[in-house]
Amino acid sequence: MDLVKNNQSDSTGIIDKSETICIVGAGPAGLTMARSLLAKGIPFQVFEKHNDVGGIWDISNPGSPMYESAHFISSKYLSSYFDFPMPEDYPDYPSNRQILKYHRDFAKTYNLYPWIQFNTSIIEIKEKDGCWIVETSSKEKYLFGGIICASGITWSPNQPKLEGENSFTGKILHSVNYKSPSLFHGKRVLIVGAGNSGCDIACDAGANAEQGFISVRRGYHFIPKHILGQPADVFGDGAHWIPNWISQLVFGKLLKFLVGDLTKLGLPAPDHKIFETHPIINDQLIHNLRHGDVIAKPDIEKLEGDSVVFKDGSKEKIDLIILATGYNWSIPYMERKYFEWKNGRPDLYLTLFNRNFENLYALGYMETDGGAYKMFDEMANLIASYIEAKRKKNSSYLRFANLIKTDRPLLNGKIQYLNTGRHSVYVNQVAYKNYRSKIQKKMGWFDLKPGQFNSLKSSIGPSISHDQTTSSGISQ
Ligand SMILES: Cc1cc2nc3c(=O)[nH]c(=O)nc-3n(C[C@H](O)[C@H](O)[C@H](O)COP(=O)(O)OP(=O)(O)OC[C@H]3O[C@@H](n4cnc5c(N)ncnc54)[C@H](O)[C@@H]3O)c2cc1C
Repeated sequence: MDLVKNNQSDSTGIIDKSETICIVGAGPAGLTMARSLLAKGIPFQVFEKHNDVGGIWDISNPGSPMYESAHFISSKYLSSYFDFPMPEDYPDYPSNRQILKYHRDFAKTYNLYPWIQFNTSIIEIKEKDGCWIVETSSKEKYLFGGIICASGITWSPNQPKLEGENSFTGKILHSVNYKSPSLFHGKRVLIVGAGNSGCDIACDAGANAEQGFISVRRGYHFIPKHILGQPADVFGDGAHWIPNWISQLVFGKLLKFLVGDLTKLGLPAPDHKIFETHPIINDQLIHNLRHGDVIAKPDIEKLEGDSVVFKDGSKEKIDLIILATGYNWSIPYMERKYFEWKNGRPDLYLTLFNRNFENLYALGYMETDGGAYKMFDEMANLIASYIEAKRKKNSSYLRFANLIKTDRPLLNGKIQYLNTGRHSVYVNQVAYKNYRSKIQKKMGWFDLKPGQFNSLKSSIGPSISHDQTTSSGISQ
């Protein structure tokens, strides 16, 4: 199948691919998007800045937030791509290396490599008469018919300034620069922030530093990775029929019973009900706090010489501060005017469809309360169905285009997520799935069916020459 037809450049040197969709990024979102378009025979081309697929899971991808000790926080049972389960010999919570291999196996299995141009950053995308001019780091310019941004949300570290940091004699790093616990040997290390990465890194400090500390501003609910011997998400999966307020009550009580009173470990009491923030899935930190290898501290007041002063007046000598303070979302290759940014998040219909610009989509610009990849698959299928309907001039296209502009469903499953930037595009998986499925049915578009991608397993790659395409070193 020759999916990429037009390779002609005009007098301005722009290569015309106006029949083709450009996908930016070959991380998990870009890969599943590629699989969906390939299955529908919609021409596309993927650009990836790194030399292989896998996104953040490739620790050697410059700027990746990955660290050696990172494991999945959703279990392998509920986190695989549609129709592509994780290997049986994987543990319940695979390591980052296993997740990377899984993505590469996915790309190989569905013959996605030939469609990806590696070592090529997209540096600018501009709209032109309903199409998109795309400029790459290798100074090529293309005219594409559509853009799917799948370039991820964790490439722009959020690094707050700390009062007195100029006087600080220790070192300050953002967690994006933390890779290996060997960095901690012989040091007194303070981790700032108790998100999932912050908690993992604090545990690395607990096991490897002279002394680990974690500074926590707000109280969170800590969900153990296993409940009664089952992965926590598998344990909760059977309970979706229960109204959320009952789940919150029952799980809240169960957690108190299993984990105990966290304030006794120096952590603040949560100021919200369980599930109202992104879950912290970690039991090791509690273990470290109970053994004194990590000491919980409140918010930082200021840095002073070789020490950190905390809001409760306590002071600790610290050699290294790791700011696990998250990431600012960005789409740096497109001017801000192309997306409506609210609370630092792009406002998109169903987190996917640009409301103001035709043929501009994004996949992966949301966070959710479980494994993301099946959701990515279903979202990719929805985008591909819309593009297909449009190309086939099916009337459902116009009906859906109208929804993109007018429909603003609440996708929180009636859970009052905390009013923070992070939770402004946070979606409840069940609520999202139900709504998406309902709309899709109305349009007459199909949900994913087992076996629907099988034909790609034996497909041959594109017939264009892939002179720059395959610098991954992976044989095809
Ligand atoms: C520590 C950690 C643990 C996590 N654990 C889980 C988990 O257990 N379960 C789960 O479901 N999710 C988890 N996540 C969420 C995670 O974000 C997703 O698993 C996934 O990696 C997101 O995929 P993505 O394709 O949207 O983005 P990314 O993985 O960021 O991939 C984006 C790709 O785009 C490329 N790119 C970026 N900019 C450009 C450009 N300008 N030009 C060309 N290419 C570009 C990048 O190189 C990258 O390959 C975790 C995240 C972190 C940080």
